[in-house]
Amino acid sequence: MAAALDMGVLRRGLRRGLAPLLPAGSDDDPLGEMRLLDEDSLLCDAVEDLGREHLVPQQALMEYWPWARLRAEQEERQLYSEIRRLPPDDYARVRELLASDPVAEQGVLWEKWGGLWGRFGFFEPVSSWPWCNAAGWCFPCPTCVWPMRAQSAGDGVFVVSCDAHLLEGAQYTCRPVRGRGAPVLEGGGGLAGLVEGFPAAGDYLAVSRTVWRYLTLPGRMEFAIRDALTGIAGLDVLMYPNSDRYDLHITAVDPLVAKGWRVDAKAWRSFGALADALLERPAMGGAVPLTIVVPHRQRSDLPLLRARLAGRPDFEVMTDKALVAEVLRWCRGES
Ligand SMILES: [Zn+2]
Repeated sequence: MAAALDMGVLRRGLRRGLAPLLPAGSDDDPLGEMRLLDEDSLLCDAVEDLGREHLVPQQALMEYWPWARLRAEQEERQLYSEIRRLPPDDYARVRELLASDPVAEQGVLWEKWGGLWGRFGFFEPVSSWPWCNAAGWCFPCPTCVWPMRAQSAGDGVFVVSCDAHLLEGAQYTCRPVRGRGAPVLEGGGGLAGLVEGFPAAGDYLAVSRTVWRYLTLPGRMEFAIRDALTGIAGLDVLMYPNSDRYDLHITAVDPLVAKGWRVDAKAWRSFGALADALLERPAMGGAVPLTIVVPHRQRSDLPLLRARLAGRPDFEVMTDKALVAEVLRWCRGES
């Protein structure tokens, strides 16, 4: 049995990285670098996502699954099962809208969603989210358009950053301004000028955090892949083929280089939880493996995910960038 932890080691581990708290032999586990508490002893942003991916709120457990942990896989599956009942055209439309417009005024959403509006509980009022409120203003991430987290740095100054795209530069300083206009963000590697704030009140609605993680983020990856491959001769790209368990079907139609890719994008924060979820899926037959595409920013954790899925030849995993490069190489006859 492992020795009991010293309180000092525990406190340091929570603030500076979990490595000293993990069991021996966990050297490669990316959790080792994760910090759970920030300098102010507040929970770090990552914790909420990890909590959701491993366990959903107690209320749901008590009501429906008192006998087991309900993990993100079930939460994700529940979201998808709600929309998979739609006719194919409506399904594709809902996926597109959740990717393209995760935040908007209610009137705008009504117009865009038309008859599909109100059938799903995907949106919540931004005014009910104190975590993205910077002195009455909310700022959408320039990469995913969802509200960025606003953390007070004192004296009316806020640090504004996207939980998913912080490493790609979506982190800004928001200083108070005189007058009534939205504060202007500073920093963020040249993207600051692209971010326009809106009042964190009134009838602005945004997709829930769960919808953002499991539908908006992967959806935006899938549309970006489609756009990168549009207009390439000999390539057929089909989004959301009839209620299948993958989202993007790419076919190289030239008989000399014919090949197909079945693609499912995933934006889970924890690759460990994602691997658990994928391993629970029954093995798929057929010659074409399912390509699980993950964000380029998580590329350093790919070997871990590949190792976990080593016994499942029906899955292959790669980043969005690597997939586009592979398809283009194939079309040029280089693969
Ligand atoms: Zn973002």
